[in-house]
Amino acid sequence: MSPDFASAATVLAMSDGLNNEFSPNTDELLANNAHYIETFADHDLALQPRRQLAIVACMDSRMDIFQMLGLAHGDAHIIRNAGGVVTDDVIRSLLLSQRLLGTREIILLHHTDCGLQRVVSDELMDALEAETGMRPSWSLEAFKDPYQDVRQSIRRLQATPFVPHKDHIRGFVYEVETGNLAEVEA
Ligand SMILES: [Zn+2]
Repeated sequence: MSPDFASAATVLAMSDGLNNEFSPNTDELLANNAHYIETFADHDLALQPRRQLAIVACMDSRMDIFQMLGLAHGDAHIIRNAGGVVTDDVIRSLLLSQRLLGTREIILLHHTDCGLQRVVSDELMDALEAETGMRPSWSLEAFKDPYQDVRQSIRRLQATPFVPHKDHIRGFVYEVETGNLAEVEA
């Protein structure tokens, strides 16, 4: 085993506990949807979010954004990626959210026990390059401290010229242990 693959094994060790007995979910979910449309009541919702709000959140499966904040369908844009990081693509979505669809407020939601806290960027990038022959052009955006990463995300929003409305930006860390939202001062 080459050193590169040893390092790949190291950085991918967090996948060790995963369930390898996989079966696809889609057919079951389509059956759920057949029930859902029987009582569907959202046909009158407007395209523009009612609360003029956009939320940028981590994709973590433990975070139900609508439930944790008491939001209803049609209230807000929810923009999600690994980490809830403010990337160029998040800025693209916020630009459209604000300029075309009328939102004026941004909430950032990171959380404790994020998968990105377990990633060592250089090691994973080296492993990817060794395995595929290509090094990604994008950053993995790994971090150690979710509170510090919220501050960085707020600073990126403040620095970009493409998000016009910046008067109402607040950032939080969702504590997966308690469900509590801890506000992070910029
Ligand atoms: Zn996360």
